[in-house]
Parts: sequence; structure tokens; C-alpha cells
Amino acid sequence: MNELLLDLSAAEFGDSTGDLFDGHIPLARPWLGEEEAEAARRVILSGWVSQGPMTAEFEQALAKTIGAAHAVATNAATSALHLALLVSGVRPGDEVICPATTCMATANAICHAGAEPVFADVDPDTFNLDPASAEDQISGRTRAILLVHQIGLPADLATFESLAGRRGLVLVEDAATALGAKYAGRFLGAHGRPTCFSFHPRKIITTGEGGMLVTGSAEQAERARSLRSTGASISDFDRHNAKGVLQQIYHEVGFNYRLTDIQAAIGLVQLGRLGQMLAERRAQAEHYHLLLADVDEVQIPHVPPEAEPCWSSYCIKLRSAAAAHRDELLVQLASRGISCRRGIGPLYAEPFFRSHEPDLYLPGSEEVGRSTLFLPIFPGLTVEQQESVAAALKESLVGVR
Ligand SMILES: *Cc1c(COP(=O)(O)O)cnc(C)c1O
Repeated sequence: MNELLLDLSAAEFGDSTGDLFDGHIPLARPWLGEEEAEAARRVILSGWVSQGPMTAEFEQALAKTIGAAHAVATNAATSALHLALLVSGVRPGDEVICPATTCMATANAICHAGAEPVFADVDPDTFNLDPASAEDQISGRTRAILLVHQIGLPADLATFESLAGRRGLVLVEDAATALGAKYAGRFLGAHGRPTCFSFHPRKIITTGEGGMLVTGSAEQAERARSLRSTGASISDFDRHNAKGVLQQIYHEVGFNYRLTDIQAAIGLVQLGRLGQMLAERRAQAEHYHLLLADVDEVQIPHVPPEAEPCWSSYCIKLRSAAAAHRDELLVQLASRGISCRRGIGPLYAEPFFRSHEPDLYLPGSEEVGRSTLFLPIFPGLTVEQQESVAAALKESLVGVR
């Protein structure tokens, strides 16, 4: 069944040159054009293509846009999360609490740091980490909470801030999908703690692959810069500029987590469009709310008052009777030319974690994994296409009843 579903909705991304009305609406589609191509071309012809001046400019521009003190670009959010955990003091043998329903990359980063992911349950309405369940999972070995802002919706930061403060834990934010989302009126990443963003094409802005760690701490940023690049005390570009007079030294074992200047140049163009992309996504989400308001089987996304999502995804929840037919519904939608995706299931059900956690069962995460469905949302998706999605969904719901 899984493979069949993958096959039918294989076109996750639209062909960026093709006509989307070609009988098919993709789930997501990056917005890239001549400006990005031109920016990449300029870097290629400049003679400096690895991490250098464009990367520094991209870091400064992103920090300024969201109101963060320091930004460190990386080759992916996974590596940004790894660095965020290391500079926060996570050590081998520590436990790090994270939501059970999240991207595998969240748990991978914890494992890369030598720590053990401990899964806590999510709120079945927001899909974000449930503070009470997170607190239940705290043990003598817990060092940190890795708080995920799931699919563009800010989690309950204030509650986790006080929980972490009260229990002496570090709080790190996984905002991979949530660039441009706000909590209590401020952008995620502006609250001072290490926060990570992704620039994979499924996220808000893209550089092909890429990530960014932002933090309010100059010390953390400096260590992350060194760890990102072999553990060296200075960057390749600074050494180049000093014409060989400056020599790097190594205080610890580092990685190669560098972004290239080609990617950074693309990221700068994308960042310039962030406001427009967010506005489009918000309008699309509001239109889906209207289109689906009268569909009894569908629960539209719940947004708590202090959260302003960036709508990186539009995830609906099917009410009990319809949820039983969720996978069949996906097949029906695919046959009508609409690529949707099942929501995120609990990570502890994956074979790797099952062997460590054979008995774990978290009801909120099970419910989310069973009953959720992503609808297409991306800059460029038209009102007519959204109406086709809603119509196909309604027909398919009748079809599976
Ligand atoms: C996509 C994603 C990541 C990983 O991002 P990469 O840039 O692909 O490494 C991590 N966490 C969450 C919640 C994500 O959605």
C-alpha cells in the first residue's frame, strides 16, 4: 500500500517550466526564476564559489530580516540542528526530548550529537509538542528539549521557556519549516535561543539544500562557525584575504557543514521575496479555510492566538469516520490529478526506533499520524486550483464513504 501511494503521487513538485493545469496539481513547488539564475551566474564567474562573502551577506540579511543577533549558514537544517545542540552543551549520553511526530532529521541531529532522542506526545490539534507530556519524559539524564515548530506553526514557546527554566534544561528550536512565522508578535529565531531553519525546496525559501542557525549568543555563534568548518579558528575566506599571513589553528574536531556562495546568492534573492511568499501562502490558507468550512469530515488547521504560522504546509485533520479511509482518499485524490500527502506519523514506529522503544504508544501522535493530510500550497497556486482541490476532496470523501 505504501509503495502504491508513493507511485500515484510521485509528482511532489511541479515542473517549474510546465503548465500546472496539465491535469495535475503538485503538493509543493519552489519559486525560482531568472533572478536566482543570474545571482548564481555572477558568483560562478566571480572566481569564489565556496563559503565566502555571499554567505556572510546572506547570514546578515537573514538575521536582520527576523531580528536575530547572529546567524550561521550551513549546508542543511540537519547540520544546523547538530551544531545548535553541540553549542548548547548537549553531550554523548544525554537525553533530548523532542516531539514523536516530526521530520526524521530532528531525531537524527540528536543522534549525531551522541545523545538519545526521547519522544514526547503532541497536541492532536496543533501537532506541536505537548508541554505536559514533555515534562513527563524528563529524567536525570535529560539535558535539552528540542522544540519543533511543526509545519510552520509556532509551538507554545512561553510554556516551554518556563518549563526549561524550572527544570534546568536547555531549549533549542527546530524552525526548519517555519521561517517567517511569528510567536507573540516576533519572528521565530528572534527569541534569543539557538533556532534552525531549512532551505530545502519543501520549505519557505530554498537554496536547493541549506540551513541556518541563529542565536542571541555571540559565543555560541563563534563556536558554531568553527565547528561548521573543520573546527578551524578562521575561515578559508579570511585566510585568503590575508594572503596567507593568517594561519588557522584547531581547538576541536569539526565538520564540513558549509553552504556555498552559489547557494547563498540564491538565498539572498529568495529572502528578498519572503514577504510576498508569506502573503501568498497566508491568502491561500485563508481561502482553504473558507472552501472547507462546510465539509463536516474535515477539521481545518487550528491556530492558537499567540501564533502566526507561515503556512509552509496546509494540513487538515479528518474526523473519525473519514480518518479510517485516509489512505484510500489519497489514492482517489491522486487519480483526480491532486498530489496530497499523508501527515507525519510517530517516529517511534520507524524500524530504527521500534527496536529501542518497542512499547511506546502516544495517543496524540497516533491520532495525528492516522488522520492528517497535506493539501497543495505554494506561491503561484491559483484560486481556481484551490477550488479544484476542494472539489476533488469533497468528491473523494463521497467516494470512500
Ligand atoms: C525539513 C526538516 C528538517 C531537516 O531539514 P534539512 O534542511 O533537510 O536538513 C528538520 N526538521 C524539520 C521539522 C523539518 O521539517
